Amino acid sequence: MIEENVKNILASLDTNPYGEKVTLVAAVKTQSPQDINRAIHAGITDIGDNHVQEFRDKYDQIEGHPTRHFIGHLQTNKIKYLLGKTDLYQSVDRFELATELSKRSQKANVTSEILIEINVGCELSKSGFSYEEAVAAYSKIKDLPALKVRGLMAMLPLTDDEDILRPLARKMRVLYDALKKNDGNIRYLSMGMSGDYKLCIECGSNMVRLGTCIFGARNYN
Ligand SMILES: *Cc1c(COP(=O)(O)O)cnc(C)c1O
Repeated sequence: MIEENVKNILASLDTNPYGEKVTLVAAVKTQSPQDINRAIHAGITDIGDNHVQEFRDKYDQIEGHPTRHFIGHLQTNKIKYLLGKTDLYQSVDRFELATELSKRSQKANVTSEILIEINVGCELSKSGFSYEEAVAAYSKIKDLPALKVRGLMAMLPLTDDEDILRPLARKMRVLYDALKKNDGNIRYLSMGMSGDYKLCIECGSNMVRLGTCIFGARNYN
């Protein structure tokens, strides 16, 4: 079933309406190394973790050297476990994290590639910079040494009401285009989960993070 899901999704993902290739990141929280490896053998090239402890526990059991994303809320005292092992930190949601990631990256002599997380739906339950402060946050973070800002990440509200989702997704694309115009490093608009990824791609996302529609419903026990 995992194999079939991966093949079907990969076959259905083409380019977005802007002609950009859409990258599929498998969101692997709660999944066993065996199931993650099945997804990788079926064609998954990128995986994203939410929890540092899970990332560490499974690290040596993951096969095929996928590109590694971190997509969860990250405490600054855990950065050390990810440094040099994470290709893209998608969830840089506050200055404190950006500053500390920069500092530690510099010390370790690595450049860390990041996305800035935007709380586009203004939801209390979600972290991230507000849409209004996004450009100022970007300008500040982009000047930190040892970080390279590659784009934006957003999670839309959990609803299937397209009249709510579509304007938010389009707003994110507007912001992405505004940054990209003046910065050749900007390449990713990471937006879209199992419930809304098709709509997000239609609105200009070029990276989606899918868990449920690859692995089935999560079991948190
Ligand atoms: C869990 C998670 C996803 C995937 O969610 P699904 O609805 O299972 O596809 C995507 N992004 C983030 C940040 C997540 O935590």
